[in-house]
Amino acid sequence: MNQASYPFFRVIQNHVAEAARRMDLAPDIGALLSQPRTELVVHFPVRNDAGELCMFTGYRVQHNNLLGPFKGGIRYHPDVNVDEIKALAALMTWKCALLDIPFGGAKGAVKCDPRQLSANERMRVTRRFTHALGRNIGPDHDIPAPDVGTGPSEMAWMMDTYMNSVGVLEKNAQRGVVTGKPLACGGSHGRAKATGQGVAHCVEEWAREHRLALKGTRVIIQGFGNVGGHAAILLSALGVSVVAVGDHTGYLVQPKGLDVHALSEHVRVHGGVRNYGGAELCSRDQFFAAEAEFFVPAALENQVSSHEAGLLRVRAVVEGANGPISPEGEAELTARGVDVVPDILANAGGVTVSYYEWLQNKRSERWTLEEVDAKLEWAMLRAYRRVSEQAKQMGTNRRIAAYSLALAALREGYEARGIFP
Ligand code: NAD
Repeated sequence: MNQASYPFFRVIQNHVAEAARRMDLAPDIGALLSQPRTELVVHFPVRNDAGELCMFTGYRVQHNNLLGPFKGGIRYHPDVNVDEIKALAALMTWKCALLDIPFGGAKGAVKCDPRQLSANERMRVTRRFTHALGRNIGPDHDIPAPDVGTGPSEMAWMMDTYMNSVGVLEKNAQRGVVTGKPLACGGSHGRAKATGQGVAHCVEEWAREHRLALKGTRVIIQGFGNVGGHAAILLSALGVSVVAVGDHTGYLVQPKGLDVHALSEHVRVHGGVRNYGGAELCSRDQFFAAEAEFFVPAALENQVSSHEAGLLRVRAVVEGANGPISPEGEAELTARGVDVVPDILANAGGVTVSYYEWLQNKRSERWTLEEVDAKLEWAMLRAYRRVSEQAKQMGTNRRIAAYSLALAALREGYEARGIFP
């Protein structure tokens, strides 16, 4: 199925519905959570380096803010559409609720291919998009962060544009309008690697739970960007051998284990894993069929359908990406006894450290890397163990257990507050 016709939002809603059914959730609460609060589409002009005027389309979907300000990344990709952004926004609501972070869920995007834009063009697109969003974002209302195709530079430009749109006296209180900023702009130590770090904690904890010595195990990783690249380096430091990787440029296999630092440098210089000398080029199918204990998807949604699930020879999939497994893929994995650590748990390290960054901005503090790392580890292990326990108690898989914990947090909030007015 191509990405445009993949009903991503419905897939997420079906997970919610399954969890709601098992926990006897009141229909009112299901109804309240069935659609996002706001779906914003903006069209804005930007001049390219040749001086031509180009129109761009941007999105911001605000799913739910019961537990706190809307929170979620900004994606730059040529194929984005509203359904995908709705799904990603909803995932943020569930993730924050599961991790007990006082944020709601949102997601945004600009339909563009960032690889085809110069740094100056990306800056103008980012600034104009931020201007178009206007007061729909804000440090106490809706807080963007990086996602696929964006990083600290885009966050610095967003912050600067937003700060310059308010009065000078309020300017410095606006720093927390985005997270994932460079350190020099009020970013947090440990944010860049946070999502990969959270993935590594889940792999470690899964191994502990299954009495498997982590050292000497193998992992295959799809996507070698922010999440996949950091996960590779952190897992490799724990003694896990990265035996196959892949990205939009191709797939590589190296049964003896890749030198992840050298590969990382290759990706930084060349923009992808292809042509890296230390491994063999292989097909996408050969990548999925590579022998390993773990698979970390860290690219896009809908990458593992029944075909890929049938090829996988791993014991556990730890979802660095959002929504990487289709329902057919999940059914196949379940039938084959492959365990899945779901996205709303496994990749929650990013939003967790984003929360820490936001807190540091609010308090004008700078935490050390050691402080951030220790807090993140505590938060990830607590959430992991709660999900494992819930899965045992409910007799479900980890995904439905994670959704049910998140839903329970929202149910409590709605029951206490009632419906306004
Ligand atoms: P990124 O842009 O840094 O990297 C994306 C990677 O995916 C790149 O290596 C790219 O080559 C690869 N890719 C793109 N299209 C592909 C294709 N068709 N086939 C194979 N590989 C492909 O993005 P990221 O921030 O690392 O995000 C990756 C995933 O993790 C996304 O699902 C994102 O929503 C999720 N995520 C990111 C964060 C974060 O903090 N950045 C947090 C939580 C979840």
